[in-house]
Amino acid sequence: MKQDILLQTEHLHKSFDNQEVLKDISFSLTGGEVVVIIGPSGCGKSTFLRCLNGLEDIDGGRVIFHGEEISAQKKKMHLIRQKIGMVFQSYDLFPHLTIMENILLAPMKAQGRQKQEIEKEAEELLKRVGLFEKKNAYPRQLSGGQKQRVAIVRSLIMHPDVMLFDEVTAALDPEMVREVLQVLLELAKSGMTMLIVTHEMEFARAVADRILFMDKGIIVEENTPQEFFESPQTERAKQFLNMFH
Ligand code: ADP
Ligand code: MG
Repeated sequence: MKQDILLQTEHLHKSFDNQEVLKDISFSLTGGEVVVIIGPSGCGKSTFLRCLNGLEDIDGGRVIFHGEEISAQKKKMHLIRQKIGMVFQSYDLFPHLTIMENILLAPMKAQGRQKQEIEKEAEELLKRVGLFEKKNAYPRQLSGGQKQRVAIVRSLIMHPDVMLFDEVTAALDPEMVREVLQVLLELAKSGMTMLIVTHEMEFARAVADRILFMDKGIIVEENTPQEFFESPQTERAKQFLNMFH
């Protein structure tokens, strides 16, 4: 069955001052698809994700979500952002709130949902990421990997249609990387539509339906994981991959 395009850009341009950071990016993400973006530091990956959920204004082109141009709808942006979840490298949980309180905050405030209903759901999600017993703990009592898993739950409870992940394991100690990647793998298996920026090549290969290789603000190469890792088409991609051997 052919799925519909969920999120899309057409000729997206973004500059900071006089530096063009994203140069004419056309891209689409289909429902249920998992796409991984890889590329050197500074090539524009984070900026691209931030443009997709309206955290950055764009200078040209369009961002289209469910067939509607969202780059032109400032007023609806807060609603759109609930439907496009994003998890970053830093997990910025509120230190004075428990894990459960951190998770309940946004669905109660932004979606007006009842505490009882979402508490049950939060418990289920915490079980899914192996953190049920931490629900009454405070963020300082958790490891980096555990906090990052809470950040993922906090996003999922908003019932997003698509999840953007920006180097979510980059700040973690190696032993905690795996537990977070495992959560992403399971989320992908469950059918969540995902766009993931990562430098974890093995993980990228395992999780991705499609790989985008970005360099200097351009999508240089777009391929299946197998093709990309075994026979990259461009010199730039070859050079980049060589750094990981
Ligand atoms: P990546 O995530 O691939 O490492 P970024 O999207 O963070 O790359 O950055 C791309 C380029 O845009 C870099 O040259 C960076 O310095 C620049 N940049 C990112 N955010 C800003 C900003 N808020 N103001 C000015 N320049 C920025
Ligand atoms: Mg980045």
